[in-house]
Amino acid sequence: MTTATPVLDALAARATSLDDADPLAPLRERFLLPEGVVYLDGNSLGALPAAVPPAMADAVRRQWGTDLIRSWNDNAWWQAPLRVGDAIGHLIGAAPGQTVAGDSTSVQLFNALSAAVRLRPGRPLLLTDPAHFPTDQYIADSVARLFGLEVRRIPAAGLPGFLAEEGHRVAVAGYSPVDYRTGELHDVPGTTRAVQRAGALMLWDLCHAAGALPVRLDELGVDLAVGCGYKYLSGGPGAPAFLYVAERHQAAFDHPITGWNGHSEPFGLSGGYTPAEGVGRARIGTPPILSLLALEAALTAFEGVDMELVRAKSLSLTGFFQDCADTLLAGLGFGDVTPREPGRRGSQVVLRHPEAYAMVQALAARGVVGDMRAPDLLRFGVNALYISHREVLDAVRQLREVTTDGEHWQERFRLRTTVT
Ligand SMILES: *Cc1c(COP(=O)(O)O)cnc(C)c1O
Repeated sequence: MTTATPVLDALAARATSLDDADPLAPLRERFLLPEGVVYLDGNSLGALPAAVPPAMADAVRRQWGTDLIRSWNDNAWWQAPLRVGDAIGHLIGAAPGQTVAGDSTSVQLFNALSAAVRLRPGRPLLLTDPAHFPTDQYIADSVARLFGLEVRRIPAAGLPGFLAEEGHRVAVAGYSPVDYRTGELHDVPGTTRAVQRAGALMLWDLCHAAGALPVRLDELGVDLAVGCGYKYLSGGPGAPAFLYVAERHQAAFDHPITGWNGHSEPFGLSGGYTPAEGVGRARIGTPPILSLLALEAALTAFEGVDMELVRAKSLSLTGFFQDCADTLLAGLGFGDVTPREPGRRGSQVVLRHPEAYAMVQALAARGVVGDMRAPDLLRFGVNALYISHREVLDAVRQLREVTTDGEHWQERFRLRTTVT
């Protein structure tokens, strides 16, 4: 089945004019993307920034290979967690001295939640979203068990109502600005205000926000935040995560993992723990320098980039995706998941279809890379630094072909791999 060409022609003309007027188009050259691939999975693993391979070669050959242990001083390895933290802070509205890079999001969640509980003694509830990414929920449960608290799973939309009743009993609320499955963007300022009005602490998980949209941590007075380095920040597989501790909480921030790197005098080698001043106390042990340097190089892709423009382009891409889907996928059994209102949309478009898994596999074989979230969601993330409107149209057009040709019924697309 072929689509009437005038319809496709009109969409193609629109894509071209949007791309021609795109002020961020030149940023694509800051990434190394394989020929013939439409990469709509940068919300899971960001593409490779061009600055990373030479930085890695230098880190390995010169810094490690030649300078050896002197690199802790001479190549400023020791400062890397705070230096990279500040570079991330710049993208999430955090002034320097409040963000540290290291460990994984899961570990940083544990650190942030535990420290939050210690900052709000006597409050027995820990709130999280029943739709939150699983690790966020698992860790909330474990922290609650450890400290003798209770987790309440309250949908983001129901928070104000819950807080009006029980807010005085809440220690910390851990939520995500963007629902990782549906792509819905929650009300970050309103939620932060409601939580803090109840005297509780607000912890945002920025995994799907950092590098994707402007986040104004300082301006909104957020208490704590965490996020990963490998999604929109494109820091590479397993890139270090980050933890933000608002300056006003740092003096009382009691880290649950008192590693020697967080000590006020790490080389004093004393037997007792005295935390460092500032966010340095959120350091733990010897950091993964190679990964930190890869992330640091990756972040140069954002140099001179206005996050407001990133947001505007991201919305243009996702809005155009929805328009293409309306036109090209009508009547093919797809359901709409991601909100239409721009203010309620993150940086991905999600469609629902019972054959989601096999369709995503068939698309990947055509070079269109998205991902699938159980049981029936097709997820397409856009990173405005390297995705174009033409690619969005190409992806939807190919999804239409897969579906109308029944390509996804082929046996090879139905075998489950370990990672979906
Ligand atoms: C991706 C993601 C994570 C991942 O946690 P890791 O420890 O980095 O594996 C956690 N939370 C959210 C909301 C995510 O989107």
